[in-house]
Amino acid sequence: MKLKKGLFVFGTIMFILSCATNPFTGKKTMALVPNSQLFPTAFAQYDQFLTEHKVVTGTKDAAMITRVGQRIAVAAERWLNANGYQGYLKDYKWEYNLVNDETVNAWCMPGGKIVFYTGILPIAKGETGVAAIMGHEVAHALANHGQQRMSAAYVQQGIAVAGNVAIKDEKSRNAFNQYYGVGSQVGVMLPFSRSHETEADKIGLYLMAIAGYNPDEASELWKRMKANSGGGAPPEILSTHPSNDSRIANLKALAPKAKAEAEKFGVTSFK
Ligand SMILES: [Zn+2]
Repeated sequence: MKLKKGLFVFGTIMFILSCATNPFTGKKTMALVPNSQLFPTAFAQYDQFLTEHKVVTGTKDAAMITRVGQRIAVAAERWLNANGYQGYLKDYKWEYNLVNDETVNAWCMPGGKIVFYTGILPIAKGETGVAAIMGHEVAHALANHGQQRMSAAYVQQGIAVAGNVAIKDEKSRNAFNQYYGVGSQVGVMLPFSRSHETEADKIGLYLMAIAGYNPDEASELWKRMKANSGGGAPPEILSTHPSNDSRIANLKALAPKAKAEAEKFGVTSFK
């Protein structure tokens, strides 16, 4: 009983100490570990992932992933600057890689480290579909969804965060991957919550539109994802991003708003 109460008090204190307002949602969110400490861990994990997978270079597809990634990153920066959040991306080190792997997946780690798997390209069906996926995954990172998942779990389990999340062993590496949704054959990823998915859908749609990609494509993309989940093993990305009709309807309804947002940045035609 005493322990439980102690944990509750600890959790409450940590929560109050570490709430930060998210620029994209305007909501107070929990972040026990500041990005400046989290990012180096993420960058090390990313580098490790790249050494363990076949990175595609010098192809049209690899160039496309980089091109879309750069446009999405610029869109995020423009949106943040326009909304009074200059410096929000200062610790970001954007990187975009395509890996040769049939898994249907893509993700973005904290600090802007992105991976696309070649297996998702047939469902993306071109650059605009890639932009829809990229916008969504980048949105999870920008909104610190992984950070919130990890923080919530730490509070729940009464784990003190010593201000250092350096990952030294296999077990904590796998835990990190779970919270940050990093796809690998090793770790089991935890699905994002419904509310995080809805947030990422909206932010992602705005980013793709500001980047000049047609946001109408997002609902079409998730229709294809859904169609692809029938039959054999469902795509890996669907285990963390369950697709359903309400999500598709929501994306469709939000697309005109995303176009209106893009117009504020002088973007009026979309590819
Ligand atoms: Zn998602």
